[in-house]
Amino acid sequence: MNTVYTYVSSPNHLYPDHPERPARLDVLQPGLESFGAELIETQPATREEIAYIHNPKLVSALENVCREEAPAVIDYAPTYVTSSSFDDALLASGGVITCARTVISGNARNAFAIVRPPGHHAEPDRAMGFCIFNNVAIGARYAIERGMERVMIIDYDAHHGNGTQSSFMNDDRVAFLSAHQWGIYPGTGWIDDAPHARKRIVNVPLPAYAGDQVYEQIADKIFVPFVQSFKPQMLFVSVGYDAHWNDPLTSLGLSTTGYLMLAKKVMALAKEYCDEKIVFVLEGGYDPVNVANGTRATFSAMTGVDESVVNDPNPNKEPDCESRIEEVRRWHGF
Ligand SMILES: [Zn+2]
Repeated sequence: MNTVYTYVSSPNHLYPDHPERPARLDVLQPGLESFGAELIETQPATREEIAYIHNPKLVSALENVCREEAPAVIDYAPTYVTSSSFDDALLASGGVITCARTVISGNARNAFAIVRPPGHHAEPDRAMGFCIFNNVAIGARYAIERGMERVMIIDYDAHHGNGTQSSFMNDDRVAFLSAHQWGIYPGTGWIDDAPHARKRIVNVPLPAYAGDQVYEQIADKIFVPFVQSFKPQMLFVSVGYDAHWNDPLTSLGLSTTGYLMLAKKVMALAKEYCDEKIVFVLEGGYDPVNVANGTRATFSAMTGVDESVVNDPNPNKEPDCESRIEEVRRWHGF
């Protein structure tokens, strides 16, 4: 069994001077062949699949805006739509479902949905934060529909995955962890966001410049006991390359080597606890070179093909986050 990926670049979903643009993926695809991963055809998500997470009224409203008023800005982030965005968003969610279906059926070892528009800010009743539909949440619910009893989503995009958290606030079948920069958009994601869901909804808010060393501690001291406690049968990873130190929108400190380390850590957890079932889903990342380097690092971890990754160490000093990590562990009893 091999590694597969879907690729939804949505070339017509674009807005003047907006950072969430098709060019984010421009330097990515050449070079992916060297990993031996197979590009598979994406089927768009059905209305029924979108309704796993989203209110059908929101879905019709978005369709109307795209068909009749686009181009338009629909949220202050700003989130925009064009006349193709509704179909693009169906295809992006479908990209995750297609990956999940292939992994669940045993036709691939693991998968990466390289899709846009991204999804993790989209709430059940609201498109926001450059996101239309919550691709990873829809994929996780698809896995539940296919018989999985416990699914976990680990989100290491720079921003809090508020939409994914909202989607599963009261759904014991899905666990969610987000490590993100504190104090930036969307403003949610403090440790105690979900006091009723300790050990199931885990937030790790981080100061600026937290980088490879901090994330390695988070993986070892929080990811591991979280997975051991929840025992997911399948893992989804919301991966955003905007936690890279030179992303234009954020101030975290991961390097490409750090992204490789994180991908290896979650792969190891999937291997040990989830019968290897893991699907990576692209979220943010606004420097196309970071997105390309980070994605290649992730493919390297997924396929085991040893492509040496770019050496781009964080030039900023990392803050000491030991007490923050301990605070998170104490809150959840890890
Ligand atoms: Zn982000």
